[in-house]
Amino acid sequence: MQSKYDVLVIGGGPGGAMAGKAVAEAGLSCCIVEKRPAIGAPVRCAEGVGNEISELVDLDPKWISSKIEGAQLIAPDGQVLELNPEMAGNEVGYVLDRKIFDRDLVWKAANAGCDVFVKSRASGAIIKDGKVCGATIEHGGETFDVYADVVIAADGVESKFARWCGINTTVPMAEIETCVQYLMTNIDIDPGLNAFYLGREVAPEGYIWIFSKGDRTANVGIGISGKMCKDGKRPKDYLDAFIAEHLPNGKIIELIVGGVSACKPLECTVADGLIIVGDAARLSDPITGGGIINAMYTGKLAGEVAAESIAAGDCSKKTLIKYDTEWRNSKMGKALKRNYQVKEIFIKLKDEKLNSIVSSVNKLDMEIFDTKYLIRELVKYNPWLLKDIGTLK
Ligand code: FAD
Repeated sequence: MQSKYDVLVIGGGPGGAMAGKAVAEAGLSCCIVEKRPAIGAPVRCAEGVGNEISELVDLDPKWISSKIEGAQLIAPDGQVLELNPEMAGNEVGYVLDRKIFDRDLVWKAANAGCDVFVKSRASGAIIKDGKVCGATIEHGGETFDVYADVVIAADGVESKFARWCGINTTVPMAEIETCVQYLMTNIDIDPGLNAFYLGREVAPEGYIWIFSKGDRTANVGIGISGKMCKDGKRPKDYLDAFIAEHLPNGKIIELIVGGVSACKPLECTVADGLIIVGDAARLSDPITGGGIINAMYTGKLAGEVAAESIAAGDCSKKTLIKYDTEWRNSKMGKALKRNYQVKEIFIKLKDEKLNSIVSSVNKLDMEIFDTKYLIRELVKYNPWLLKDIGTLK
């Protein structure tokens, strides 16, 4: 490991990998440090992505466990809302194999010229005159100071690096979705469909998902708001009850636990010498918890902006702010803002209201499925929605 790089990336997830690749492709020196001994493992993810992932990377068939052609939303009263590609505006996607996917993304960064060190943990930030200048790295039983013109914090939901740099990264308990997931086999599922189960009895302020991993195999998981966790009402309690009812013959071959933030993004995602990307910047979708694509997009953007700023000889917050402004004005930034507001409405809905929404969507003419039509018809059947939709900006 060199003692100085142009850019140092903390974390080898999708955000860090895309950042490292972008920097190396710009011809600058770059290093990714990853605290785990293997990239991509253990997987803490349901691995679902929309097909817009192909705007960021050429999809390799070996990354894909399942191609998803549609989804089912199951209301608390058991009504099923079928979302097929025509209805959802071609929103098809994939369930990835992240053990392979994450590793290949880092591989691409390495092939572009980026250094990669696994089992290498950042344990502190180096800050001089208010500017982030590098990180202290524990590697192979030794501790090194590694300096960089820009540090990219891509250290995920449990991110500490930005906090060490004086940035408030606290996520309120009510906005942490606490998750448990089983990889299950021997279950009867449609391999082309993902399913979402809603309801206070099923998953309070969250949902249960079944994401197909191919024939008779799926990621079956739950996320519920941290504030709803109590003795006997933990995510695992809800998930086990669901499995006993719906998938009694399934066999569990893997268990993971993890957290997802469902809060607003950090107020500012740059500082002097620092850019924060992906989950570390709280950029996962507040409704679905999905964050792979957002991490990839912001990682790539961060790498590009870091390279430009270094070329211009100015890595101050004033220059790096281009990154913050660009993602906030992007499709992703606008969706995060809107979806936070929608989530705030959704979590307050009683089960009867959810049933009523699903029932009215089932009555819609899907031939003329557009947002205006959807809102008009939803309000026609559920006039109480007018008040909530009126608050959407
Ligand atoms: P990460 O992928 O978390 O990568 C961060 C990396 O930084 C990790 O490898 C970590 O080990 C490393 N690191 C942390 N601290 C240090 C340190 N001090 N030094 C060195 N390395 C460090 N998203 C979706 O899009 N679809 C889904 O279906 C989906 N399902 C999910 C299900 C669950 C149960 C959970 C918990 C999350 C899910 N997500 C999903 C979210 C998704 O996993 C994240 O949004 C995505 O991984 C974010 O990428 P990232 O690069 O920002 O962070």
